[in-house]
Amino acid sequence: MSNAELDRLRDRLDEINAELLSLISERAEVVREIGTVKEKQGVPKFDPEREKQMLEKLVSSNKGPFTNSTIRTLFKQIFQASLDLQSAEHKKSLLVSRKTRKEDTVIELPQGVLVGGAASLMVAGPCSVESEEQTRTVAAALAKAGIKVMRGGAFKPRTSPYDFQGLGMDGLRILREAADEYGLLTISEIVDPAHIEPALDYVDVIQIGARNMQNFELLKAAGEVRKPVLLKRGLAATLEEFIHAAEYIMSRGNTEVMLIERGIRTYEKWTRNTLDISAVPILKQETHLPVLVDVTHSTGRKDILVPCAKAGLAAGADGIMVEVHPDPATALSDAAQQLNIEEFNQFYNDVKASGLFRQ
Ligand code: PEP
Ligand code: MN
Repeated sequence: MSNAELDRLRDRLDEINAELLSLISERAEVVREIGTVKEKQGVPKFDPEREKQMLEKLVSSNKGPFTNSTIRTLFKQIFQASLDLQSAEHKKSLLVSRKTRKEDTVIELPQGVLVGGAASLMVAGPCSVESEEQTRTVAAALAKAGIKVMRGGAFKPRTSPYDFQGLGMDGLRILREAADEYGLLTISEIVDPAHIEPALDYVDVIQIGARNMQNFELLKAAGEVRKPVLLKRGLAATLEEFIHAAEYIMSRGNTEVMLIERGIRTYEKWTRNTLDISAVPILKQETHLPVLVDVTHSTGRKDILVPCAKAGLAAGADGIMVEVHPDPATALSDAAQQLNIEEFNQFYNDVKASGLFRQ
């Protein structure tokens, strides 16, 4: 073949490539329009039946030289690319997305306590509310240390049904009374959609726990009320699943959502879970919501709480959560990992002394 002939064929190939590019781009525009229609109708974008029909049609008019299997593979790639495009656009339009809102969301709790603002937040308190005395003892110690928000579980999602399940509504009342006595705010986990409304009188922040991160009915119920929500990352949730869970709450109108990384399950046994520090900057980047780090449930061990809290703050976290109990050895849940009051004071001083905790 002469060079001139080769050049002619190459030019023709360039032309075909350009035509193919223009056609697949045009196809993408049509897919996008279909996506908008489907979004309005509330039907899923991926329709396997329709994809099958399109492939059958293509294969039946295939005259070669490509085999039917090659045609299927090539077109499946094109179909997938269009779907990816749609989901990338969908992600950008999420209410939780940084693309939707550039500025950080700052949540104002009662008493002017801000989450996600200039100051870092330390949330501390017992794993479970066990008694009035236990809760008041912690509340007094926290108030003395300058803590503003106390946590305490009343509905405990325990692995075993035979373990302490929490004091329920009575626990919420005890938490509220102790908090009020010492001028603190309250955070407590709610596990049942029906308990959201009654809990509003007792909690300043509704916690949705790791085990319920994808309890969609609970997320929807939390989205219906006007009370800040602290959403924990699921035990094995990807960040995409995590932000979609937050989207469930926001999509129902509740814009006051805080995210908290609490460790994920890995094969590692030297910690209770694996604290995913990378989640912090990614969540700050992808969403505009405040991000906290729970050092207690992620590590499950007291000896590394300070470096893990520092790491969380250095990575951009807006706050830290830690568990405190007057006598951890006798605690009805998480006995091994709660700090006693003296240990908490030391922990808090060390975190503040690092300069990473913004005051
Ligand atoms: C808790 O914070 O009390 C708790 C149960 O944590 P998690 O949902 O992260 O396991
Ligand atoms: Mn706990």
